[in-house]
Amino acid sequence: MKSKWSRRDFLKKNAELTSLLLGSLALAGVSSLSHSAARRLTSVSADPFTLGVASGDPTPDSIVLWTRLAREVMMESGAVDQAVQVDYEISESYSFNRVIRSGSIAASPELGHSVHADVRGLDSDQVYFYRWQVGNVTSPIGRTKTAPAASARNENFRLAFASCQQYEHGYFTAYKHMADEEFDLIIHLGDYIYERSWGTNLVRNHEGPEIITLQDYRNRYNTYKSDPDIRAAHASAPWVVTWDDHEVDNNYAGEIAEDEQTPEQLLRRRVDAYQAYYEFMPIRLPVGREGPDMPIHRRLRFGNLMEMHVLDTRQYRNDQACGDGRKISCDEHQDPTRSALGQAQKNWLLDGLATTEATWNVLAQQIMMASLRGVSDAGERLWPMDIWDGYPYERQELLEHLDTVSTPNPVVLTGDIHSNWAADLKLDFDIPSSKVVGSEYIGTSISSGGDGQDMTNYGSDLLANNPHVKFYNANRGYVSATLTPSLWKADYKTVPYITSRGAPINIRKTYVTEAGRPGVQEN
Ligand code: FE
Ligand code: CA
Repeated sequence: MKSKWSRRDFLKKNAELTSLLLGSLALAGVSSLSHSAARRLTSVSADPFTLGVASGDPTPDSIVLWTRLAREVMMESGAVDQAVQVDYEISESYSFNRVIRSGSIAASPELGHSVHADVRGLDSDQVYFYRWQVGNVTSPIGRTKTAPAASARNENFRLAFASCQQYEHGYFTAYKHMADEEFDLIIHLGDYIYERSWGTNLVRNHEGPEIITLQDYRNRYNTYKSDPDIRAAHASAPWVVTWDDHEVDNNYAGEIAEDEQTPEQLLRRRVDAYQAYYEFMPIRLPVGREGPDMPIHRRLRFGNLMEMHVLDTRQYRNDQACGDGRKISCDEHQDPTRSALGQAQKNWLLDGLATTEATWNVLAQQIMMASLRGVSDAGERLWPMDIWDGYPYERQELLEHLDTVSTPNPVVLTGDIHSNWAADLKLDFDIPSSKVVGSEYIGTSISSGGDGQDMTNYGSDLLANNPHVKFYNANRGYVSATLTPSLWKADYKTVPYITSRGAPINIRKTYVTEAGRPGVQEN
């Protein structure tokens, strides 16, 4: 769909959307401030915490605590249209023998009875446990951790990153293993839900067909959160999340939908999809949100060890060139103004990469940055248009910037592609001797694609055509990384199957990056 669409038309036709969304957010703000307006339930008909607990966006003195009250329980308790008071307690111990903070917050019906308590004044680099209470029911206990102070000379940090969890394709077993590791931080790089079914050999089903409306999106998140392993992973550590395409629509680009929707319809859909995302994620309410826009790119600092630049490569991008897919280059592809980040986010990113003082500079983002050259049967070069290869001039600008401003140890984390890779980021991917300016660690899916396999011919061909790419594997799982001042060590952790429960986890491969020496090396 390539409709022409003017900003003026958009503003006119969507003024109504804007006021609608501002209205709901204003209500959310009011309800979280004026506790007296919320109803205190003395008892509830059943456990309202079936969606679990979560925390996220840690800073040195704050953390966002999340839960959401089950809609059926609110209905049965006669509160489905009312704001409900939810209490929380925080302790340094799992036994809660000393509660160091407590409070309450309103769960408003406008936000589906989700709550985000942005608790401030906490100690830095400290593990905390938290729990929620409504009426006579207490939630499961969550473990979380604040970030080290910005000035801290922290020596060790353990994180995991994951992406792509098509519910119908398999069980979220990898999350059970991730939960057991009690990381300092878990990063989700998108495709947390899928808007529709695809593939065969489905082991379980979505609650309905392709999702369009706010209630559709809410129902879909409910389905995904019904898996106990993802709830365990949320309860085990703070998360930093960003979205990819399937939180709205496969391969959408800015206001361009994949299917027959007009830009107006896609923007309407973005209002609902983005709101549902916020409702279900432990994320700070982004400032400046209006209408179908929701800026979620942000920076988080973890002592002097790591700065994380969280990106959004979907909301602001130009439409995939040459009709999307793997294509021979065309004029549209060669337009030097093409952008995956959009001007404002790009400027913000380039500024951050020029001024950072952290040892490791992580770009938490969606799409593969290293070039992934393909060759057609006729011997012509094929470009995968949905990933950074489809935005070659902006990628070049970014990689040259890393070199020019000497960003310390850039490490790009990537999801989307449902397979594990490790790659050198080079100033010119077509010249083997070209300078390496960064490292990319690409993580496989949690479940998308089914059981997967260790290696395929598809991957072998790509490795042969792309010498800067060092490793390929298509099992399911996640990547964990241990950071020290001198070394980034990444373990590619895989499960042998996901179409039945209970798979063990193994380290399939380990790659490292030494501080001061960009690029990936086999351990
Ligand atoms: Fe995906
Ligand atoms: Ca994707």
